[in-house]
Amino acid sequence: MDRKIYFDHNATTPIHEEVFDAMVPYFKDEWGNPSSIHWAGRGPKKAVDEAREKVAGFLNCSPIEVIFTSSGSESDNLAIKGVAFSMRSKGNHIITTKVEHPAVLNTCKYLEREGFDVTYLGVDADGMIDLDELRDSITPKTTLITVMYANNETGVVFPVAEIGEIAREHRVTFHTDAVQAAGKIPLDVKALNCDLLSISGHKIYAPKGVGALYVRRGVRVVPIIHGGHHERNRRGGTENVAGIVGLAKACEIAARDMEEETAHLRRLRDRLEEGLMKRIPHVKRNGHKDKRIPNTANLSFEFVEGESLLLNLDMLGIAASSGSACTSGSLEPSHVLVSMGLTPELSHGSVRFSLGRSNTEEEVDYLIEKMPPIVERMRSMSPLWCEVEKKGVDLSFEEKTCS
Ligand SMILES: *Cc1c(COP(=O)(O)O)cnc(C)c1O
Repeated sequence: MDRKIYFDHNATTPIHEEVFDAMVPYFKDEWGNPSSIHWAGRGPKKAVDEAREKVAGFLNCSPIEVIFTSSGSESDNLAIKGVAFSMRSKGNHIITTKVEHPAVLNTCKYLEREGFDVTYLGVDADGMIDLDELRDSITPKTTLITVMYANNETGVVFPVAEIGEIAREHRVTFHTDAVQAAGKIPLDVKALNCDLLSISGHKIYAPKGVGALYVRRGVRVVPIIHGGHHERNRRGGTENVAGIVGLAKACEIAARDMEEETAHLRRLRDRLEEGLMKRIPHVKRNGHKDKRIPNTANLSFEFVEGESLLLNLDMLGIAASSGSACTSGSLEPSHVLVSMGLTPELSHGSVRFSLGRSNTEEEVDYLIEKMPPIVERMRSMSPLWCEVEKKGVDLSFEEKTCS
Protein backbone atom coordinates (compact mmCIF):
# COMPACT_ATOMS: atom_id res chain seq x y z
CA MET A 1 0.00 0.00 0.00
CA ASP A 2 1.83 3.08 -1.16
CA ARG A 3 -1.09 5.42 -0.90
CA LYS A 4 -0.55 8.33 1.50
CA ILE A 5 -3.41 10.49 2.72
CA TYR A 6 -2.80 13.16 5.34
CA PHE A 7 -5.79 14.14 7.50
CA ASP A 8 -3.81 15.52 10.46
CA HIS A 9 -3.24 19.18 9.61
CA ASN A 10 -4.00 20.35 13.16
CA ALA A 11 -0.87 18.48 14.26
CA THR A 12 1.32 20.03 11.61
CA THR A 13 1.22 21.03 7.94
CA PRO A 14 3.63 20.49 5.05
CA ILE A 15 5.68 23.51 4.01
CA HIS A 16 4.07 25.43 1.16
CA GLU A 17 6.29 25.57 -1.92
CA GLU A 18 6.19 29.39 -2.05
CA VAL A 19 7.19 29.46 1.63
CA PHE A 20 10.11 27.16 0.97
CA ASP A 21 11.28 29.23 -1.98
CA ALA A 22 11.08 32.44 0.06
CA MET A 23 13.26 30.90 2.79
CA VAL A 24 16.04 29.42 0.68
CA PRO A 25 18.15 32.61 0.27
CA TYR A 26 18.41 32.94 4.07
CA PHE A 27 20.00 29.51 4.34
CA LYS A 28 22.45 30.31 1.55
CA ASP A 29 23.72 33.76 0.59
CA GLU A 30 21.98 35.87 3.22
CA TRP A 31 23.37 34.07 6.27
CA GLY A 32 24.41 37.18 8.22
CA ASN A 33 23.27 38.23 11.68
CA PRO A 34 20.48 40.83 11.44
CA SER A 35 22.01 42.66 14.42
CA SER A 36 25.31 43.24 12.61
CA ILE A 37 25.87 46.72 11.24
CA HIS A 38 28.13 45.55 8.39
CA TRP A 39 27.22 44.31 4.92
CA ALA A 40 26.47 40.74 6.01
CA GLY A 41 23.70 41.82 8.35
CA ARG A 42 21.89 44.19 6.02
CA GLY A 43 20.00 41.65 3.90
CA PRO A 44 18.82 39.56 6.86
CA LYS A 45 17.82 42.69 8.81
CA LYS A 46 15.76 43.94 5.88
CA ALA A 47 14.15 40.51 5.58
CA VAL A 48 13.16 40.42 9.26
CA ASP A 49 11.79 43.99 9.05
CA GLU A 50 9.72 43.16 6.00
CA ALA A 51 8.50 39.92 7.56
CA ARG A 52 7.39 41.83 10.64
CA GLU A 53 5.39 44.18 8.45
CA LYS A 54 3.72 41.28 6.67
CA VAL A 55 2.77 39.51 9.89
CA ALA A 56 1.49 42.81 11.28
CA GLY A 57 -0.60 43.24 8.14
CA PHE A 58 -2.02 39.75 8.59
CA LEU A 59 -3.00 40.52 12.20
CA ASN A 60 -4.00 44.16 11.57
CA CYS A 61 -1.51 45.62 14.03
CA SER A 62 1.66 47.67 13.99
CA PRO A 63 5.02 45.95 13.29
CA ILE A 64 6.36 46.97 16.71
CA GLU A 65 3.54 44.95 18.26
CA VAL A 66 4.88 41.67 16.78
CA ILE A 67 7.42 39.53 18.69
CA PHE A 68 8.94 36.59 16.83
CA THR A 69 9.33 33.45 18.93
CA SER A 70 10.38 29.83 18.48
CA SER A 71 6.85 28.35 18.49
CA GLY A 72 3.21 28.67 19.39
CA SER A 73 4.15 27.20 22.75
CA GLU A 74 6.73 29.91 23.40
CA SER A 75 4.25 32.60 22.35
CA ASP A 76 1.73 31.22 24.86
CA ASN A 77 4.38 31.02 27.58
CA LEU A 78 5.61 34.56 26.93
CA ALA A 79 2.07 35.95 26.90
CA ILE A 80 0.94 34.22 30.08
CA LYS A 81 4.08 34.34 32.23
CA GLY A 82 5.02 37.70 30.76
CA VAL A 83 1.75 39.34 31.80
CA ALA A 84 1.31 37.38 35.05
CA PHE A 85 4.74 38.37 36.37
CA SER A 86 4.61 41.97 35.14
CA MET A 87 1.21 42.47 36.84
CA ARG A 88 2.06 40.57 40.01
CA SER A 89 1.88 43.62 42.26
CA LYS A 90 -1.67 44.26 41.04
CA GLY A 91 -3.03 40.74 41.43
CA ASN A 92 -2.38 37.04 41.08
CA HIS A 93 -5.57 35.68 39.53
CA ILE A 94 -5.73 34.21 36.02
CA ILE A 95 -8.79 32.91 34.17
CA THR A 96 -8.56 30.27 31.45
CA THR A 97 -10.58 27.22 30.28
CA LYS A 98 -10.29 23.49 30.81
CA VAL A 99 -9.92 22.84 27.09
CA GLU A 100 -6.82 24.90 26.26
CA HIS A 101 -3.75 23.49 24.54
CA PRO A 102 -1.14 22.08 26.96
CA ALA A 103 1.08 25.11 26.17
CA VAL A 104 -1.51 27.22 28.02
CA LEU A 105 -2.76 24.69 30.58
CA ASN A 106 0.67 23.63 31.78
CA THR A 107 1.89 27.23 31.91
CA CYS A 108 -1.08 28.00 34.17
CA LYS A 109 -0.30 24.93 36.31
CA TYR A 110 3.28 26.18 36.65
CA LEU A 111 2.03 29.59 37.74
CA GLU A 112 -0.19 27.93 40.36
CA ARG A 113 2.95 26.41 41.85
CA GLU A 114 4.44 29.92 41.82
CA GLY A 115 1.60 31.26 43.96
CA PHE A 116 -0.95 32.33 41.33
CA ASP A 117 -4.63 31.40 41.49
CA VAL A 118 -6.12 30.04 38.30
CA THR A 119 -9.80 29.57 37.42
CA TYR A 120 -10.39 26.91 34.78
CA LEU A 121 -13.77 27.50 33.12
CA GLY A 122 -15.69 24.40 32.11
CA VAL A 123 -17.49 23.83 28.80
CA ASP A 124 -20.89 22.45 27.86
CA ALA A 125 -21.63 19.40 25.70
CA ASP A 126 -20.95 21.47 22.57
CA GLY A 127 -17.59 22.56 23.94
CA MET A 128 -18.70 26.17 24.54
CA ILE A 129 -17.94 28.30 27.62
CA ASP A 130 -20.54 30.32 29.52
CA LEU A 131 -19.80 34.06 29.29
CA ASP A 132 -21.77 34.81 32.46
CA GLU A 133 -19.58 32.36 34.33
CA LEU A 134 -16.54 34.12 32.90
CA ARG A 135 -17.90 37.50 34.03
CA ASP A 136 -18.67 36.15 37.50
CA SER A 137 -15.21 34.69 37.96
CA ILE A 138 -13.45 38.04 37.49
CA THR A 139 -12.20 39.47 40.80
CA PRO A 140 -10.24 42.63 41.67
CA LYS A 141 -7.17 40.38 41.67
CA THR A 142 -7.67 39.15 38.11
CA THR A 143 -4.87 40.32 35.82
CA LEU A 144 -5.16 37.98 32.85
CA ILE A 145 -7.78 36.09 30.86
CA THR A 146 -6.37 33.55 28.39
CA VAL A 147 -8.90 31.76 26.18
CA MET A 148 -8.10 30.06 22.87
CA TYR A 149 -9.70 31.16 19.62
CA ALA A 150 -10.17 27.72 18.01
CA ASN A 151 -9.75 24.39 19.72
CA ASN A 152 -7.13 22.07 18.26
CA GLU A 153 -9.06 18.87 19.01
CA THR A 154 -12.64 19.75 18.11
CA GLY A 155 -12.21 22.93 16.08
CA VAL A 156 -14.74 24.74 18.30
CA VAL A 157 -14.43 28.53 18.01
CA PHE A 158 -14.84 30.64 21.14
CA PRO A 159 -16.50 34.10 21.00
CA VAL A 160 -13.18 35.84 21.39
CA ALA A 161 -14.40 39.35 20.50
CA GLU A 162 -17.05 39.16 23.25
CA ILE A 163 -14.57 37.75 25.75
CA GLY A 164 -12.24 40.62 24.88
CA GLU A 165 -15.02 43.10 25.46
CA ILE A 166 -15.72 41.65 28.91
CA ALA A 167 -12.00 41.74 29.73
CA ARG A 168 -11.79 45.37 28.63
CA GLU A 169 -14.82 46.41 30.73
CA HIS A 170 -13.03 44.98 33.76
CA ARG A 171 -9.59 46.29 32.77
CA VAL A 172 -8.17 42.79 32.58
CA THR A 173 -5.51 41.89 30.00
CA PHE A 174 -6.72 39.36 27.43
CA HIS A 175 -4.62 36.80 25.54
CA THR A 176 -5.89 34.38 22.92
CA ASP A 177 -4.13 31.34 21.49
CA ALA A 178 -5.05 31.67 17.82
CA VAL A 179 -2.69 28.95 16.56
CA GLN A 180 -5.54 26.85 15.08
CA ALA A 181 -7.58 29.82 13.93
CA ALA A 182 -4.82 31.32 11.79
CA GLY A 183 -5.42 30.77 8.10
CA LYS A 184 -8.87 29.26 8.73
CA ILE A 185 -10.87 32.24 10.03
CA PRO A 186 -10.04 35.96 9.95
CA LEU A 187 -7.54 37.17 12.54
CA ASP A 188 -7.90 40.85 13.24
CA VAL A 189 -6.58 41.78 16.66
CA LYS A 190 -8.65 44.97 16.71
CA ALA A 191 -11.92 43.23 15.87
CA LEU A 192 -11.07 40.50 18.39
CA ASN A 193 -10.48 43.00 21.23
CA CYS A 194 -7.39 41.12 22.34
CA ASP A 195 -4.21 42.43 23.96
CA LEU A 196 -2.05 39.43 23.07
CA LEU A 197 -2.44 36.74 20.40
CA SER A 198 -0.30 33.68 19.57
CA ILE A 199 0.33 32.06 16.19
CA SER A 200 2.64 29.25 15.06
CA GLY A 201 4.40 28.73 11.72
CA HIS A 202 4.04 25.00 11.27
CA LYS A 203 0.24 25.04 11.59
CA ILE A 204 -0.02 27.35 8.57
CA TYR A 205 2.37 25.73 6.05
CA ALA A 206 5.53 27.41 7.36
CA PRO A 207 8.28 25.43 9.13
CA LYS A 208 8.37 24.20 12.71
CA GLY A 209 10.32 26.27 15.20
CA VAL A 210 8.92 29.70 14.49
CA GLY A 211 5.96 31.57 15.94
CA ALA A 212 4.82 35.07 16.74
CA LEU A 213 3.12 36.87 19.56
CA TYR A 214 1.11 40.05 19.10
CA VAL A 215 1.44 42.33 22.13
CA ARG A 216 -0.69 45.47 22.03
CA ARG A 217 1.24 48.70 22.53
CA GLY A 218 1.17 49.60 26.21
CA VAL A 219 0.89 46.00 27.44
CA ARG A 220 4.00 44.97 29.34
CA VAL A 221 5.40 41.45 29.17
CA VAL A 222 8.50 40.52 31.13
CA PRO A 223 10.82 38.37 29.01
CA ILE A 224 11.11 34.64 29.61
CA ILE A 225 14.22 34.32 27.46
CA HIS A 226 16.83 36.79 28.64
CA GLY A 227 19.59 37.83 26.28
CA GLY A 228 20.49 40.62 23.92
CA HIS A 229 18.33 43.50 22.83
CA HIS A 230 16.43 41.46 20.28
CA GLU A 231 12.71 41.98 19.74
CA ARG A 232 12.84 45.30 21.62
CA ASN A 233 14.25 43.62 24.73
CA ARG A 234 11.30 41.29 24.99
CA ARG A 235 12.89 38.09 23.66
CA GLY A 236 16.61 37.38 23.58
CA GLY A 237 18.16 35.26 20.86
CA THR A 238 19.45 35.84 17.34
CA GLU A 239 16.48 35.81 15.01
CA ASN A 240 15.53 32.65 13.11
CA VAL A 241 15.73 34.65 9.88
CA ALA A 242 14.69 31.94 7.43
CA GLY A 243 11.88 30.77 9.71
CA ILE A 244 10.62 34.30 10.19
CA VAL A 245 10.63 34.90 6.43
CA GLY A 246 8.73 31.62 6.01
CA LEU A 247 6.16 32.56 8.64
CA ALA A 248 5.55 35.92 6.97
CA LYS A 249 5.15 34.29 3.55
CA ALA A 250 2.69 31.78 5.04
CA CYS A 251 0.65 34.64 6.55
CA GLU A 252 0.59 36.37 3.18
CA ILE A 253 -0.62 33.21 1.44
CA ALA A 254 -3.17 32.50 4.20
CA ALA A 255 -4.73 35.93 3.77
CA ARG A 256 -4.63 35.70 -0.03
CA ASP A 257 -6.24 32.23 -0.24
CA MET A 258 -8.45 32.26 2.87
CA GLU A 259 -11.81 32.57 1.18
CA GLU A 260 -11.22 29.89 -1.42
CA GLU A 261 -9.47 27.63 1.07
CA THR A 262 -12.22 27.91 3.66
CA ALA A 263 -14.86 26.89 1.12
CA HIS A 264 -12.73 23.96 -0.02
CA LEU A 265 -12.10 22.73 3.53
CA ARG A 266 -15.71 23.08 4.60
CA ARG A 267 -16.96 21.15 1.59
CA LEU A 268 -14.53 18.28 2.23
CA ARG A 269 -15.11 18.25 5.99
CA ASP A 270 -18.89 18.07 5.58
CA ARG A 271 -18.56 15.34 2.97
CA LEU A 272 -16.32 13.35 5.32
CA GLU A 273 -18.64 13.74 8.31
CA GLU A 274 -21.83 13.01 6.44
CA GLY A 275 -20.27 10.09 4.61
CA LEU A 276 -18.99 8.39 7.74
CA MET A 277 -22.06 9.12 9.84
CA LYS A 278 -24.35 7.76 7.14
CA ARG A 279 -22.41 4.54 6.67
CA ILE A 280 -21.43 3.78 10.26
CA PRO A 281 -24.00 3.47 13.06
CA HIS A 282 -23.33 4.89 16.54
CA VAL A 283 -21.08 7.74 15.53
CA LYS A 284 -21.22 11.04 17.37
CA ARG A 285 -19.87 14.39 16.24
CA ASN A 286 -17.95 16.26 18.94
CA GLY A 287 -18.08 20.05 19.12
CA HIS A 288 -20.55 22.74 18.17
CA LYS A 289 -21.92 22.06 14.69
CA ASP A 290 -21.56 25.62 13.38
CA LYS A 291 -19.19 27.47 15.69
CA ARG A 292 -16.03 25.79 14.52
CA ILE A 293 -13.18 26.12 12.05
CA PRO A 294 -13.91 24.60 8.64
CA ASN A 295 -11.25 21.87 8.54
CA THR A 296 -11.81 19.78 11.66
CA ALA A 297 -14.06 16.77 12.22
CA ASN A 298 -13.90 15.06 15.60
CA LEU A 299 -15.98 11.88 15.71
CA SER A 300 -16.59 9.30 18.43
CA PHE A 301 -17.10 5.71 17.32
CA GLU A 302 -18.86 3.78 20.03
CA PHE A 303 -17.46 0.39 21.04
CA VAL A 304 -14.22 1.05 19.21
CA GLU A 305 -10.78 1.88 20.54
CA GLY A 306 -9.59 5.03 18.79
CA GLU A 307 -5.91 4.15 18.84
CA SER A 308 -6.52 0.74 17.19
CA LEU A 309 -8.73 2.45 14.64
CA LEU A 310 -5.86 4.84 13.86
CA LEU A 311 -3.42 1.94 13.42
CA ASN A 312 -5.83 0.28 11.01
CA LEU A 313 -6.17 3.52 9.05
CA ASP A 314 -2.39 3.95 9.08
CA MET A 315 -2.05 0.55 7.41
CA LEU A 316 -4.11 1.96 4.56
CA GLY A 317 -1.88 5.03 4.43
CA ILE A 318 -4.42 7.29 6.11
CA ALA A 319 -3.02 9.62 8.79
CA ALA A 320 -5.45 10.91 11.41
CA SER A 321 -5.18 11.49 15.11
CA SER A 322 -6.85 10.82 18.42
CA GLY A 323 -7.11 13.84 20.65
CA SER A 324 -4.07 16.00 20.11
CA ALA A 325 -0.68 14.97 18.82
CA CYS A 326 0.81 16.01 22.13
CA THR A 327 -1.20 13.54 24.16
CA SER A 328 -1.27 10.65 21.75
CA GLY A 329 0.69 7.72 23.05
CA SER A 330 -0.67 8.41 26.51
CA LEU A 331 -3.52 6.45 28.03
CA GLU A 332 -5.23 9.53 29.39
CA PRO A 333 -8.47 10.31 27.59
CA SER A 334 -8.61 13.71 25.90
CA HIS A 335 -9.07 16.46 28.51
CA VAL A 336 -11.12 18.37 25.94
CA LEU A 337 -13.65 15.59 25.31
CA VAL A 338 -13.88 14.65 28.99
CA SER A 339 -14.58 18.32 29.80
CA MET A 340 -17.44 18.16 27.29
CA GLY A 341 -18.98 15.34 29.32
CA LEU A 342 -17.97 12.37 27.18
CA THR A 343 -17.31 9.16 29.07
CA PRO A 344 -13.66 8.03 29.08
CA GLU A 345 -14.72 5.14 26.79
CA LEU A 346 -16.30 7.45 24.24
CA SER A 347 -13.31 9.80 24.40
CA HIS A 348 -11.03 6.86 23.72
CA GLY A 349 -13.17 6.00 20.72
CA SER A 350 -12.74 9.38 19.12
CA VAL A 351 -10.77 10.30 16.03
CA ARG A 352 -9.84 13.74 14.75
CA PHE A 353 -9.66 14.30 11.02
CA SER A 354 -8.13 17.68 10.22
CA LEU A 355 -8.06 18.61 6.57
CA GLY A 356 -5.70 20.85 4.66
CA ARG A 357 -5.24 22.63 1.38
CA SER A 358 -4.00 19.69 -0.68
CA ASN A 359 -6.71 17.22 0.36
CA THR A 360 -9.15 16.12 -2.34
CA GLU A 361 -12.68 14.82 -2.58
CA GLU A 362 -11.26 11.57 -3.89
CA GLU A 363 -9.19 11.13 -0.72
CA VAL A 364 -12.24 11.73 1.45
CA ASP A 365 -14.20 9.17 -0.57
CA TYR A 366 -11.40 6.64 -0.12
CA LEU A 367 -11.73 7.07 3.67
CA ILE A 368 -15.52 6.79 3.51
CA GLU A 369 -15.16 3.57 1.53
CA LYS A 370 -12.43 1.96 3.66
CA MET A 371 -13.49 2.92 7.16
CA PRO A 372 -16.88 1.20 7.68
CA PRO A 373 -15.57 -2.37 7.31
CA ILE A 374 -12.72 -1.59 9.71
CA VAL A 375 -15.11 -0.29 12.35
CA GLU A 376 -17.42 -3.26 11.80
CA ARG A 377 -14.58 -5.75 12.22
CA MET A 378 -13.35 -4.05 15.39
CA ARG A 379 -16.84 -3.94 16.83
CA SER A 380 -17.42 -7.60 16.07
CA MET A 381 -14.63 -8.31 18.56
CA SER A 382 -16.24 -6.21 21.29
CA PRO A 383 -18.48 -8.17 23.69
CA LEU A 384 -20.41 -4.98 24.50
CA TRP A 385 -21.19 -4.37 20.85
CA CYS A 386 -22.44 -7.95 20.44
CA GLU A 387 -24.90 -7.33 23.27
CA VAL A 388 -26.17 -4.28 21.47
CA GLU A 389 -26.49 -6.14 18.17
CA LYS A 390 -28.30 -9.11 19.76
CA LYS A 391 -30.85 -7.11 21.65
CA GLY A 392 -31.19 -4.46 19.01
CA VAL A 393 -31.25 -1.91 21.78
CA ASP A 394 -30.78 1.68 20.82
CA LEU A 395 -28.18 3.10 23.12
CA SER A 396 -28.66 6.77 22.60
CA PHE A 397 -25.57 8.84 23.13
CA GLU A 398 -27.33 11.16 25.50
CA GLU A 399 -28.03 8.26 27.82
CA LYS A 400 -24.52 6.93 27.50
CA THR A 401 -22.74 10.20 27.99
CA CYS A 402 -24.78 11.30 30.97
CA SER A 403 -24.64 8.12 33.01
C1 LIG B 1 0.05 23.39 17.96
C2 LIG B 1 -0.58 24.31 18.93
C3 LIG B 1 0.19 25.04 19.85
C4 LIG B 1 1.68 24.89 19.94
O1 LIG B 1 2.37 25.38 18.84
P1 LIG B 1 3.86 24.85 18.59
O2 LIG B 1 4.39 25.76 17.53
O3 LIG B 1 3.73 23.43 18.13
O4 LIG B 1 4.59 24.97 19.88
C5 LIG B 1 -0.45 25.89 20.71
N1 LIG B 1 -1.78 26.02 20.70
C6 LIG B 1 -2.57 25.34 19.84
C7 LIG B 1 -4.05 25.55 19.87
C8 LIG B 1 -2.00 24.45 18.94
O5 LIG B 1 -2.78 23.77 18.11
